Amino acid sequence: RMQSQPREHLYKLLVIGDLGVGKTSIIKRYVHQNFSSHYRATIGVDFALKVLQWDPETVVRLQLWDIAGQERFGNMTRVYYREAMGAFIVFDVTRPATFEAVTKWKSDLDSKLTLPNGKPVSAVLLANKCDQGKDVLLNNGLKMDQFCKENGFVGWFETSAKENINIDEASRCLVKHILANE
Ligand code: GDP
Ligand code: MG
Repeated sequence: RMQSQPREHLYKLLVIGDLGVGKTSIIKRYVHQNFSSHYRATIGVDFALKVLQWDPETVVRLQLWDIAGQERFGNMTRVYYREAMGAFIVFDVTRPATFEAVTKWKSDLDSKLTLPNGKPVSAVLLANKCDQGKDVLLNNGLKMDQFCKENGFVGWFETSAKENINIDEASRCLVKHILANE
């Protein structure tokens, strides 16, 4: 029997959400295993590459696109979204307004990007800064499940870039859905 060929995938993933929710910190934690509390707004588009040995035959390369400071306008250009295969939409559990912005980010994404097969891209919702213990929004997980269903998210996770909570899990969830969609 012939040995099956190793499979390689390269996926562009977007990380979007309001200013200061922790997008850059999540990427840094995921890709570089570090965290800095020094605030620096991103200027220009940043890319980071994360390579996952998904299973013995599959390598997944994730190209994470950090937002370029335009998040203050609450939307992004089609050029930025182009050819993305998945997205993380991030809010800050300590700032309810950033959760209210989530549906706006989701509809911006879906209005500017569809997969080659016509489906919307897989999106995972990240409730970041869960280490802060001010988690007023999430005390009812059922509500979040319902919110995800209604708004077309494939899943949601409480995350902390600071304490490294659930970031790998959220990424695996997104990749699993992308692979299943192909
Ligand atoms: P961005 O504008 O969405 O890219 O947000 P940043 O990654 O620049 O983070 C904004 C601020 O929140 C910075 O001071 C970070 O150190 C802080 N921050 C980001 N993630 C977390 C987290 O999980 N927990 C805590 N406590 N602070 C965080
Ligand atoms: Mg940033």
